[in-house]
Amino acid sequence: MKLVILGRDGTLNPVADDYITSADEWNAMPGALEAVARLNHAGWHVVVATNQPGLGRGLFDVMALNAIHTKMHRQVAAVGGRIDAVFYCPHAADENCTCRKPLPGLLEQICDRYGVERQDVQVVGSSLAHVLAGAAMGARLHLVCTGQSAPLVPGGELPAGLPPGTQVHASLGDFVNQLLPVVLASATPALVQASVLLSTPTPTPMPGTGIV
Ligand SMILES: [Zn+2]
Repeated sequence: MKLVILGRDGTLNPVADDYITSADEWNAMPGALEAVARLNHAGWHVVVATNQPGLGRGLFDVMALNAIHTKMHRQVAAVGGRIDAVFYCPHAADENCTCRKPLPGLLEQICDRYGVERQDVQVVGSSLAHVLAGAAMGARLHLVCTGQSAPLVPGGELPAGLPPGTQVHASLGDFVNQLLPVVLASATPALVQASVLLSTPTPTPMPGTGIV
């Protein structure tokens, strides 16, 4: 199974000044849900892993969180996509759990649930904690420069502590563009034709034979 584990805040929705505590406060990042749908259409399953310490701190309850995610699922479905599940860590930082990113517990639960090897999973998010959680279990790592990472640009200066080998993308859509180059080519017959031509070796005349 091809699996992408996404962060939520800053990756699928803009980061708020404070916690998002109700469905009314949740809005999708432009283009993010369409990017999820493109992954799905190429055979990738998408699961979200998110720290929600506002639960542990009593700022909102599980019903409110479920309402937020119901809204998210509906909006993804409206553009033809699907998020298989949302796994969340409900703990506050001082609860010393093993599932709060940057620890890998939450991501490992997802891999175990879906029976996917940890090194095969694409871990994609806008927060260093999400990428570090992926690194701790040996996954393939992608930082998107939205949300918390909006000041960053691919090819520019990167945050200290970003794991080696992390690929940096301007947005979730750009990550998908890079993951699915074949899909892009097949959607455009002219590009397929061009790639066939490029991949066909040009006969090189032998010395002395000339060109007929
Ligand atoms: Zn936790």
